[in-house]
Amino acid sequence: MTSRTEELTAELGDALLQVRPALFDPDGRVGGLIDWALRDIGFRTALFRFVDCLPSLDSADEVSDHLRAYFDRDEVVLPASLRTALRLATGRWTAQVAAVALRSNVRALARQFIAAETPAQLPRALRRLHRHGVSTTIDLLGERTVSEAEAVAHLAEYRALLEHAVAVGGGDISLSVKVSALDSQLDVVDAQRCVARLAERLRPLLEEAAQVDALIYLDMEDHQLKELVLDLFQVLMEIPGAPRLGCVLQAYLRESDADLSRVVAIARRYPGRVSVRLVKGAYWDTEVALARQRGWPVPVFEDKAETDAAFAHLVTRLLGEAAVLKPAIASHNAASVAHALAVAESLALTPEQYEFQLLYGMGEGMQKALVARGNRVRVYVPVGALLPGMAYLVRRLLENTANTSFLRRTFVPDLSEPSPRTAGATARSSGEDGFRNEPPLDFSRVAVRSDFSRAIDQVRSRLGEVVTPVVGDGDRATDRIQPSVNPAHPDQVVAMVHQAGPDEVDAAIARANEVQPAWQATPVQERAAYLRRAAAYLRDHRLTAAAWLIFEAAKGWREADADVCEAIDFLEYYAAEMARLDRPRRYASPPGEDNTGEYLGRGVAVAIAPWNFPLAILTGMSTAALVAGNPVVVKPASNTPRVGRLLVEAFRAAGLPAGVLQFLPGSGGAVGDALVRHSGVHTIAFTGSREVGLGIHAAAAQTPAGQRHVKRVICEMGGKNAIIVDRDADLDEAVAAIRQSAFGYQGQKCSACSRVIAVGAVHEPLVERLAQAIESLAVGDPVNPGNRIGPLIDSAAQAKVERYLAIGQSEGRLRAQGRKPDEGYYVAPALFTDIAPHHRLAQEEIFGPVLAVLHARDIEEAATIALDTDYALTGGLFSRHPGHVAYVRERFRVGNLYINRGITGAIVGRQPFGGFALSGIGSQAGGADYLLQFLLPRTICENTLRRGFVPEMLE
Ligand code: NAD
Repeated sequence: MTSRTEELTAELGDALLQVRPALFDPDGRVGGLIDWALRDIGFRTALFRFVDCLPSLDSADEVSDHLRAYFDRDEVVLPASLRTALRLATGRWTAQVAAVALRSNVRALARQFIAAETPAQLPRALRRLHRHGVSTTIDLLGERTVSEAEAVAHLAEYRALLEHAVAVGGGDISLSVKVSALDSQLDVVDAQRCVARLAERLRPLLEEAAQVDALIYLDMEDHQLKELVLDLFQVLMEIPGAPRLGCVLQAYLRESDADLSRVVAIARRYPGRVSVRLVKGAYWDTEVALARQRGWPVPVFEDKAETDAAFAHLVTRLLGEAAVLKPAIASHNAASVAHALAVAESLALTPEQYEFQLLYGMGEGMQKALVARGNRVRVYVPVGALLPGMAYLVRRLLENTANTSFLRRTFVPDLSEPSPRTAGATARSSGEDGFRNEPPLDFSRVAVRSDFSRAIDQVRSRLGEVVTPVVGDGDRATDRIQPSVNPAHPDQVVAMVHQAGPDEVDAAIARANEVQPAWQATPVQERAAYLRRAAAYLRDHRLTAAAWLIFEAAKGWREADADVCEAIDFLEYYAAEMARLDRPRRYASPPGEDNTGEYLGRGVAVAIAPWNFPLAILTGMSTAALVAGNPVVVKPASNTPRVGRLLVEAFRAAGLPAGVLQFLPGSGGAVGDALVRHSGVHTIAFTGSREVGLGIHAAAAQTPAGQRHVKRVICEMGGKNAIIVDRDADLDEAVAAIRQSAFGYQGQKCSACSRVIAVGAVHEPLVERLAQAIESLAVGDPVNPGNRIGPLIDSAAQAKVERYLAIGQSEGRLRAQGRKPDEGYYVAPALFTDIAPHHRLAQEEIFGPVLAVLHARDIEEAATIALDTDYALTGGLFSRHPGHVAYVRERFRVGNLYINRGITGAIVGRQPFGGFALSGIGSQAGGADYLLQFLLPRTICENTLRRGFVPEMLE
């Protein structure tokens, strides 16, 4: 068969060369650009990014401004002709003309790949294709769906497309549907309900398709959605009267072989009705990058040759199942297509039993050759407006300019450069010195979801357990017992908590001071080992730990899991960091002088933690103190003592000596204040509100008689964080990121976005989409993973946020508000517009699901507004203007600045976290400077010169 494949490859290759795609014609206006893009990687990056943002630019001035910002840079090499064109395009008099010409060039580029901009233009494109003897499957390009209104609109568009296709008639009608377009709350964490919802939503489309015998493909998107899409496919197959259905396998996924077996099993029940499209896969870079960022196994083959081999293997299997499947081989590669033809021949399949699929605009030569051979060809026809079509266009451009591209190699044979893919594949994800971030759970896996669910049930059966303080050697019950409750069901008791008081404070501090010398003398490696063992315990108990977070702090599944991961990260990271700081330090030492440095623990520390990261922050502060040689007394937040107790459990399992970590649940006013004022305390690590933080700072400054040291306060406080959205921002990305940053965990993160500053004309479209997104948010008990927003932590928080809702209505306009259940401490998420920089809604930390939108004239004014608060914690920018990105990087001085992404979710070791101004006075947590705050530097200088004799000089 190999020789037959080779013969067919040669045959197809010859046919291909007769039709050179416009893209690779260096004399054409589009081909000229691509030709240069193939030669220069700087230009290619600039070109793709510019093309991506061009549709969002309204005026000629903006176009020329962006042109200059992207192309007039040292790292971008331009041929003389393009340099002249650039000068013309950015000239004062010529910009207008150039902008029009540019748009028309990019349109021409887009039209290479996008068949129609509207459903109404579709019939013409379809007829043209039918005339060439091919059938089609229609794909809808669209914005990312962030609201239910958009989901409904997308479904209507699919139905309109089907109607137009039916009107054209002639040939086999088919639609390719992307399920992510049809549900704004789609999340694999809630896969089962999402599948049921999608099946219901698709029903009218499927009924219409069945009536006209159309074939509906469920397109494959990213790997995270794959299982969900296959589950949906299975559910749809089981609906009586369903139309012909198709699913897609991506050969670059390692799991596709197993998935094919699953699809075959389904198809056996419905012989002849299941179409399977086999593609190589178009999201390689994203899959690799995201897996590496999350620390997950890379789901795709990292070597192109492996993908090709998998493709060939899957082709053989697919065609072998032609009795029950309709295989569709989607490739533009002559060798892959030839292999399929050879296999089909060897199996004596008729051309009716399988088909080839080609992307619109990418395979005219192949199309002709296959049709001439009598094979069936279906063209994948994208329909969509230029703006949302850009992401698709850039993907096609990337594909065509990659050096692995078959078409490129066919038509531009003389170019070579190192493969960026292989280079990227070997890059390390994160961490130095062996530290690796704890990977979050992959909720796309059904086993992970069911284990998680079981852990929730387990913890549910343990609700009401007793939590006691730990003083000295063991648990110490008190006579003050208070319940800790579930914010979603305030009558559900999570734990009965024995409250510590002044006696426990005194006893704990005394004991901590007793054990201090021995703990300080414990070698760093041993101290670090306790942390690592505690990390291992949490890792083993991560599901139940997360479940406690759901019940006591009302975190959603992902947020609860992230909290546990961060706690593990802090343990591992600080263990590694302390080992680094413990290395002998020798300072400059001229002959006769020996200068060395070392670090000592500062003395007994207390950690006073907030409830919003009840495990992570508590763990981070206390174990930084511990590993640095300081016994620590831990005070969890009053709302979350049960979660805090997990830390005690972890260190007990680690075998930590008694007295080194003590635990005092209780109120801030009683326990917290007494700890802060105690003369036996050396360091106070606090994270919480500004009011309490400043009070602690002042109280700790007192040095009562008998206290022979000055206390150090590490104080992390609130924020009033802003995201600037520039005129040219990618709204798909911005809206999704703002939704998560402002409303994730109900806006109760210190890093949460509470102000959006919209620049110029982006204001209206941004507000419109945000408003719809907020109204669509699912609000309810976080035990149910489908809920994006849960209750606030307690009734006081609820009342406070409600007061701000009233203030917002008097200061600005309530533009949108979501829903909320009646029981529990819920506040419906809200969006306010017409807020001015001096308004309370723009100045005060609200700590709830309330977002204020401000309007700025230009990027300079936006930066000024962004900085006009007492705080400097996090901030963000969405912009595609390189100059504006550089400007905001420079000006927007906050502890954590995020560009073109959300502003929450800092990761230990990657984004050290913490602010300044009234947001805090510490070095950033999870960063290289953090431990120094718990250490005393000590320098020793020894004079080695005695009676004229310098030992070092003997060498
Ligand atoms: P909070 O200030 O009310 O409480 C924090 C801790 O301080 C709790 O353990 C509390 O019991 C204790 N406390 C209260 N009064 C005290 C007193 N007089 N003396 C000593 N201790 C006292 O804060 P919170 O409501 O738990 O947390 C929310 C706040 O924390 C928000 O302002 C948020 O921005 C901030 N926060 C900041 C960061 C950061 O890294 N900058 C991180 C998380 C939370």
